Amino acid sequence: MPRTTARRTKALAVVAESHPPVVPKARRTLNFGGKWEYAPAPESVVVKPDAQYELFIGGKFRAPESGVYFPSINPANEKMLATIAHGSAKDVDAAVAAARKALAGPWGKMSGAERGKYLFRIARIIQERARELAVLETLDGGKPIKESRDFDLPQAAANFFYYAGWADKLQYAFPGRTARAVGVCGQIIPWNFPLLMAAWKLAPALACGNTVVLKPAETTSITAMHLARILQEAELPEGVVNIVSGAGDTGRALVEHPGVDKIAFTGSTEVGKWIAKATAGTAKKLTLELGGKAAHIVFDDAPIDQAVEGVVNGIFFNQGHVCCAGSRLFVQEGIYSAVLRRLRDRIATLRVGDPLDKNSDIGAINSRAQLEKIRSLVDAGVAEGGELMQPACALPAKGFWFPPSVITGVTASHRIAQEEIFGPVLSVLTFRTPEEAVERANNTPYGLSAGVWTEKGSKIFKTIAKLRAGVVWANTYNKFDPASPFGGYKESGFGREGGIHGLANYVRLE
Ligand code: NAD
Ligand code: MN
Repeated sequence: MPRTTARRTKALAVVAESHPPVVPKARRTLNFGGKWEYAPAPESVVVKPDAQYELFIGGKFRAPESGVYFPSINPANEKMLATIAHGSAKDVDAAVAAARKALAGPWGKMSGAERGKYLFRIARIIQERARELAVLETLDGGKPIKESRDFDLPQAAANFFYYAGWADKLQYAFPGRTARAVGVCGQIIPWNFPLLMAAWKLAPALACGNTVVLKPAETTSITAMHLARILQEAELPEGVVNIVSGAGDTGRALVEHPGVDKIAFTGSTEVGKWIAKATAGTAKKLTLELGGKAAHIVFDDAPIDQAVEGVVNGIFFNQGHVCCAGSRLFVQEGIYSAVLRRLRDRIATLRVGDPLDKNSDIGAINSRAQLEKIRSLVDAGVAEGGELMQPACALPAKGFWFPPSVITGVTASHRIAQEEIFGPVLSVLTFRTPEEAVERANNTPYGLSAGVWTEKGSKIFKTIAKLRAGVVWANTYNKFDPASPFGGYKESGFGREGGIHGLANYVRLE
């Protein structure tokens, strides 16, 4: 061995000795004496939420001015997890003032490259804390740990990484123009992807140099408040992001605040319509993302097993608490019975239960109110002549649960074919010709997403061109990437999040 290599090897050995590798206990027994164990699973990491969460304003945690707190429960067992500060109009006012001050301070003068560094830092800390945050997300919201661990958390970090990269490249996103921050942005998010929705909203806003007041949903505020700690740890200048927990009245105060330059909202169509009215005639910019009633179109030449798997994933993922959930299935008549048989077999194997169990496919419904809404729409479907197919599965006694459900014999006029259910319920309809499929798929006030299943590429392109939906997946479903835009047509809202399009919401071009 040449001398230099020998010396280098020795030097490395010394380094290794002075820094013994940190190996979790369980892994040290790997292949030892013939027995070995797995590394601890994320759900076995003991994470306890705090007893109480405060508001995050001007870089500090503070009690709500009113002294009012509300409980957040675990929907899987109805146990109280923590009490959450209920922000009032006065707290919103303080948060907007802090955001305004930050805009006038160092943040407003900072270069894009410097802003990007903060975003990269936030992304890295989210990755480091991914296990802890995934467990909290599952405890507070009821979604299966395999989703929060494998989807929500990696996607949340990916969004910060992606927009970190744009912060110093805005001149390439908008060639020939100067992109300036919009100002103070009010962002209101729902409970279905709490941390991920926060990331979708915050990352592009910060990349463009805005400051933010974020309002998480009342049933799922915990991870937002842990994100506030991450922002502190990343040393994001105070006031750049303020997080005011609360309910609808807190959101309303944010929408109505004259010091807010832009509102970004994701949630129900009803609230979205109110916000559109409340901001009309003001200088406030607005983007809305409001639910959907997505259709799958399965042509008779589709690979049936793959299509059924995609349809199942598209509606039962996150208990159907997904605005792009494929809640209507249009099957070409010739393969109707084959598809239905496979659907019945597949839903019988889905596991409903403890969201912290990594084998659970379907977790708890987010709240009692949501469970009641799902029940009433399913009852209406049956009353209107639909036939309900549910696997025989034992549901836990406590908590909010709904089994995976398929309703056949649905027609376009049924409420379940028209209204957003936001639950694990799939309506099955049939069609004869491609024209009929497109026409019926488009027959909804919404237009967020759709799925097309066929072996023929030409059919995919022909169908996509006629579908009035913001996102169309072909031979797959629910695929997300921070680089691709997402958003709707018609009552699903306007404005796009994600990708280069997502930047446009947060800049004024000169
Ligand atoms: P929601 O629209 O009431 O709540 C969404 C967010 O808006 C929450 O943070 C809430 O506190 C806030 N909010 C409520 N009223 C407000 C107001 N007047 N001004 C400003 N902010 C306000 O939705 P929900 O009641 O939690 O759910 C009801 C239905 O909405 C669901 O069944 C589902 O159909 C739909 N939904 C859609 C999405 C989506 O991703 N598009 C997400 C959640 C719910
Ligand atoms: Mn909760």
